[in-house]
Amino acid sequence: MERTFVMVKPDGVQRGLVGEIIQRLENRGLRLVAAKFMSVEKSLAERHYAIHEGKPFYKGLIEYITSSPVLAMAWEGPSAISAVRQTMGATSPIEAAPGSVRHDFGLEIGRNLTHASDSPENAASEIALWFSKAELVNWKRETDRWIFEK
Ligand code: UDP
Ligand code: MG
Repeated sequence: MERTFVMVKPDGVQRGLVGEIIQRLENRGLRLVAAKFMSVEKSLAERHYAIHEGKPFYKGLIEYITSSPVLAMAWEGPSAISAVRQTMGATSPIEAAPGSVRHDFGLEIGRNLTHASDSPENAASEIALWFSKAELVNWKRETDRWIFEK
């Protein structure tokens, strides 16, 4: 079982896509672990995107993420990290596969609606950055055995 960090970015919230994006992750069979609707402090945005510091899009990215509230979430399931990246689609909506969130709702890389962790290491550090231990809910779902093989 893997956990991954997922965020509906300000454009997704403003465009009323929170329900749609959660629905897609639920449909996939992933299990919600944590969710928090919040404004993002600049310092948190900078820590979250530290890996992109110095890149040409960095300043705009920090402005975008702090411009309006986001929905921060953690989801779990087998191969959750790649499953969620696949559901969201490639970073640029123009390259994202049809049927993915970024394809179906986006056009521009700087307005690509969601974030999802890209590796087990980043998933662990992003979940720890955005959530306290007490905010992560360990629970069993009645349908788990019909979705998870083991
Ligand atoms: N981004 C951008 N312009 C670029 C590349 C990235 O605005 O040329 C933004 C975009 O919001 C993207 C985020 O920076 O989601 C992080 O980039 P990354 O390459 O990590 O993409 P992701 O992991 O979100 O698919
Ligand atoms: Mg990334």
